[in-house]
Amino acid sequence: MVKIRKYPDKTGHFGKFGGQFAPETLMHALEELNSFYLNTKNDKNFKNSLSMLLKTYVGRPTPIFFASNLTKKLGGAKIYFKREDLSHTGAHKINNALGQGLLTKQMGKNRIIAETGAGQHGVATATVASILKQDCVIYMGEEDIKRQALNVFRMKLLGAKVVPVSTGSKTLKDAINEAMRDWVANVETSHYLIGSAVGPHPYPRIVKDFQSIIGDESLTQMLKTEGNLPDYVIACVGGGSNAIGLFNAFINKPSVNLIGVEAGGHGIKTGEHSASLSSGEIGVLHGSMSYILQDTNGQITEAHSISAGLDYPGVGPEHSYLKDIKRAKYTSVTDSEALNAFEILCNTEGIIPALESSHAIAEVIKIAPKLSKTKTILVGLSGRGDKDIETVAKQLNVNL
Ligand SMILES: *Cc1c(COP(=O)(O)O)cnc(C)c1O
Repeated sequence: MVKIRKYPDKTGHFGKFGGQFAPETLMHALEELNSFYLNTKNDKNFKNSLSMLLKTYVGRPTPIFFASNLTKKLGGAKIYFKREDLSHTGAHKINNALGQGLLTKQMGKNRIIAETGAGQHGVATATVASILKQDCVIYMGEEDIKRQALNVFRMKLLGAKVVPVSTGSKTLKDAINEAMRDWVANVETSHYLIGSAVGPHPYPRIVKDFQSIIGDESLTQMLKTEGNLPDYVIACVGGGSNAIGLFNAFINKPSVNLIGVEAGGHGIKTGEHSASLSSGEIGVLHGSMSYILQDTNGQITEAHSISAGLDYPGVGPEHSYLKDIKRAKYTSVTDSEALNAFEILCNTEGIIPALESSHAIAEVIKIAPKLSKTKTILVGLSGRGDKDIETVAKQLNVNL
């Protein structure tokens, strides 16, 4: 077992990954956020407000569920789901949005800026801004606005202003640029709420902290239910927030195998995938060093996945570190394997999972039959699949 040093260090490095690759104009805002966060995170009032809302608004703790039908069907290890799909708004993203929303309030700011690609982070942010009575501006590429009309409408219902971005490819990366521009111009009044464990320091650390409740609860719940730690902990990885949140409680438990599952899209060999850790290279994207998808000229290449939430050409720096020190393993499953897992879960357990989460289930379907019945697998069910019904219907050639 490798000895894991305390990280990130003061400059936000996870080994050689992470850091602060940001324009000079952002440095002050990042420093301010970091010192404010460090002062606030153990503040009693802050902690009480957060845990109260997590309990009464988000619905925490979410349960772990013993998937007995799936376990029986696969014939091997016992399978447990951590049910983030039961959280308010249907996924884990609310944990982080709420944490950062409250942090914004503590900073005496009343305006939240976010960007969104698929719209899920935009909806979680707009939700939090609504309950905390904050102004909310969501940047979204014009292409994404067309593709995600339902989520755009949800955000507007929740009171957010959705700003179309028409520069570049009119998608997420252009929206990120606009959000950063807004933040620099309005840093006195505004907080930039990043939705995954990515971006320049201190974001990967902040997002991890707010998502760690997933793993903390799971650890207690597994000990209570099984009397033991799980042998495997498996989660899907887009930017990596639900996975790092689940993994965190187990990183220092050497008996627990950690497996992150990336989107293999049409297959790694086709080049049409989002598997930054499995097949990317080290580079800088959105303010930190990590494994990313880039071509031989260092240009970021387009990611592909059946699930919009995994469709990102980078990954949080802590995952790159866990990969390099071999504490976690990263693998990928294809669109069709994820779709198959989606259908199996609907049929066996009466749960319609998010397509993102279906990637983690697909990995479970591969490994559970090879493990003995005495072993246990804990899998992160990061979200519910209602949002994906149209995509699935199209894939199955069903006209709605
Ligand atoms: C956004 C999303 C993901 C991917 O994001 P991470 O930061 O990697 O967790 C996974 N599952 C669901 C349900 C999502 O909405």
